[in-house]
Amino acid sequence: MKKVDLSFQSCKAEYDESSVVLFSVPLDNTTSYRPGTRFAGNAVRVESIGIEWYSPYKEMDLKDYNTVDIGDLELPMGLVEESLDIVYDTVSQIVKDDKKPMMVGGEHLVTFPVVKALMEKYEDLHIIHLDAHTDLRDEFLGRKLSHATVIRRCYDILGDDRIYQFGIRSGDRHEFDFAKNGHTYMQKFNFNGMDEIIDKLKDKPVYITIDLDVLDPSVFPGTGTPEPGGVTFNDLLDAMKKFEKLNNVVGADIVELAPMLDSSNVSTVVAAKALREMILLLHR
Ligand code: MN
Ligand code: MN
Repeated sequence: MKKVDLSFQSCKAEYDESSVVLFSVPLDNTTSYRPGTRFAGNAVRVESIGIEWYSPYKEMDLKDYNTVDIGDLELPMGLVEESLDIVYDTVSQIVKDDKKPMMVGGEHLVTFPVVKALMEKYEDLHIIHLDAHTDLRDEFLGRKLSHATVIRRCYDILGDDRIYQFGIRSGDRHEFDFAKNGHTYMQKFNFNGMDEIIDKLKDKPVYITIDLDVLDPSVFPGTGTPEPGGVTFNDLLDAMKKFEKLNNVVGADIVELAPMLDSSNVSTVVAAKALREMILLLHR
């Protein structure tokens, strides 16, 4: 795997010596409203200069752990399925090499090929999904593969009792009914009940997907479909602290940062800090 010059923070280890592989996926093809997530990976790398390597929350220092940053994946722009295949192949290789994938989106659709690749190793995979949106549509604007259908596609391969959604406050009635009918666990509006779920999933292989629009737009305006009524950054940090009780987090992602939609760049700093915490989580 190639190594890049512009890396996130101190993530400059060699591939072979790293247990966590950071990569970004510049895909925003199915974005239905405001595009721009394809620029997230490198924006976060640049903005990471402004945050510390040390996490006072985890009392861990990023430079004490080997992480390789392989940069933006090279995608055939405009070709959705081919792009997803590249994500799938990349993660299959990472998993085969006994390393953990840490992905920066891109639009949320990029989570699907990661879950697909992880499923081949971890049959009993569970997902914790933080998002403003249900992402449970069976199709959206005529497509099966969309940022609005991504969790439904994951459901197709995972089945009942495997997906745990938090912070959800937007979607159509059918999506909420789908959750109500017991296909997914859904905590609307906030992260209440997370302790219980984490306790339940403690020894399961868990993938964590964080759509950053779960945050309130006042904290995180730089995203394609902002949804008022979200959680605070401290709520997100608390959740990340709780994730430490999971014994087998097999990978994670943060998605849906569209850096150019926030001229202050604060959204990008928010993403960078969240990413630091998630990388450290994967090293625990
Ligand atoms: Mn969302
Ligand atoms: Mn989403």
